[in-house]
Formats: sequence, structure tokens, C-alpha cells
Amino acid sequence: MLMARDREGRWVYAPHMTEEQTVTSYYCPQCGRPLMFKKGSRTIGHFAHFPNEACERTFSEGETKEHIAGKMQLYEWFQRYVEKVELEPFLPTLSQRPDLLIGRIPIEFQCSQISLTLLQRRTTTYRQHGYEPLWILMTPQRFQGRERVTSCRMTQFQYHFLLNDGDEKQLITYDPVRERFTYVTLLYHIQGMNYIVSIKHVPLDDQTIPFADVRVTERERFEGKHLYDQKRKEYVYRSVRYNRRGVQHPLLRSCYEMRLSPFHLPHWMGQPVPHSDAFSEHDLEWQVTWYYYVSTRTREEQHALFEQLSPRQRLAVQQYMKRLSKNEARTAQKVAIDFQS
Ligand SMILES: [Zn+2]
Repeated sequence: MLMARDREGRWVYAPHMTEEQTVTSYYCPQCGRPLMFKKGSRTIGHFAHFPNEACERTFSEGETKEHIAGKMQLYEWFQRYVEKVELEPFLPTLSQRPDLLIGRIPIEFQCSQISLTLLQRRTTTYRQHGYEPLWILMTPQRFQGRERVTSCRMTQFQYHFLLNDGDEKQLITYDPVRERFTYVTLLYHIQGMNYIVSIKHVPLDDQTIPFADVRVTERERFEGKHLYDQKRKEYVYRSVRYNRRGVQHPLLRSCYEMRLSPFHLPHWMGQPVPHSDAFSEHDLEWQVTWYYYVSTRTREEQHALFEQLSPRQRLAVQQYMKRLSKNEARTAQKVAIDFQS
């Protein structure tokens, strides 16, 4: 922790303590037990309980140096913009101690991967008491490197932190070692939890409130689409080469029924569309399957299948169908004929 009380009950902020101050005693603002002051060549000054004296639940003992550093950096940074930022305030009604508090917004700098259940429970507790928490995830290692467009697998935990901006999603994380925010944007879904992402960094000193709006550029979209098409091609190859499901393979089955070669599918089958990750299947698979379905079934049958989809899957299907102009539908017919002849 960064805040403690001295013998007179005054608040002290660990990173600002002088050499002389460090010899006095300090006490835990919550349980009142004495604390030790710790400072190393690579850790900033902070307080910690003596071994086996940690107070219950509210204070995460064994705070990592990244957590302490990030908490301090964010605290000092928020102070530039906001009049009142509280550091490690204890909220007795919730028995919770967020890293920071600005008005009714508790800010949690999340360094460890806690369970989703615990995360949701904390969020619910905050909301029940009229707080709207802001979780800032520590930049995972895979997003720390240079700015680039790349493919990656997200974890359920990271996925939970995605922010929605209309149809586009993004993840904003903070890296206390490099003192910068990282924006993970683009998020073209491939299959399961695999995405094409664009990684960009915003140094702490350039960050603003509200957070800087980092838009996806045309160049990133182009690069992302290129990589997406490459993955699509690999998927077709894998499906054909290593297919163990025989004719039950949904992609191959639909291709076969439509007399389409999986290697020569029209470009608009297997497109990044918003909400595509509502399907765990590869984009190409659900889109081809859906297209096959609508082109062979009655309106009633289509409607019945649509009803079975989850709300987000319906959004994805609608977005996909919107992209299928009349021209493209006609191309599909032509491709089918070409392939047969
Ligand atoms: Zn304590």
C-alpha cells in the first residue's frame, strides 16, 4: 500500500517520504497494526504488513511491484486532471478498498488474473452501492511489444475488459514499466478467441481524460484484412487436409451441397463482420453455412433457425446479410455454375 498513518494519525504517502521519515513507525489505516516501509532499487517506497499480520480481504498483501508502481503513476496522473483523487480509500459499507476513487468511480488497476466470478461479484457490489467501477488491466506481455497488426488469442479474462464503441471493440490497458497505455483495436474475429488486432501505445504523458480516442486507420484495416485472408486460406487448407469429420464437416458439407470448391469461395464468404465472435466457429464456416442455408430453405425455415440464435449471433448474421448485395448473391450463383461446368 502507498498510504498509511503515522503515530499522530496523519496520512503519509510512501513515494514522497524522505530518509528521516522512514525510521518512524507507521500504521495500517484499516487494522491499525504497525507496518514496515519497503523500498528497493527496483521498487518504489511502499508499506506492507509484517509477515502473518495482513489484514483480511480488503488489502491485497503481497502486492507486486508493478501494482504499486502503476497505482502510484495513475494516482499522480489523475491528480493533474481531477481535483479530488483518493488513494486506497476504505469504503466501510462495501468493505472494499479500491486502488483509487474519484467521486463515485472506484478505479482498480488489475495486475493479477482473478476469476471472472470474483471480478463480477466485485463489480456487482460496487454497483449495488452506487459506484461505477473502472477496471484498468495491466498490459499483458503479448501486447507490450512494438506497435503492430498481428493475430492473437485473447483470454476470457481479457475479453471481459473489452469496451464497446458501437460495433467496434477495444481494450485499453496500462503498462507501469513503460509508463504507457496500450490500445488493442481492430479485433477481427477469426475463430474461437482468436483475433486479428492492432496494438498501439499512448504514453502516460500524452493520455487525456476522457481517454484518448484511438481510431483504426485505413492502413491498419488493410493490413488486418490481409492477415485475415491469410488465416482464412490456412483454415480452408486445414479443413480439407486434416478433416476428420468427413462429410459432417460443416464447411465442406455446405461447399459440397452448393457445388463450390472450398479453395475458390467468393471473397465475401469469410469476412470480418461485427459481433462475429458470438460464433465460436471460424468466420468462414458460419458464413458459408448460413449462406447455404438461406439459399436453399424457405423463409419460414430461415426464420426458425434465426430464432434459435443468441441475440449477438443474430446481430452478426444481420451484419453479414447486409453486406451481401444482390450482385454478390448473383456471383454466388455464377460461381456455382462455373464450378459445375
Ligand atoms: Zn491492516
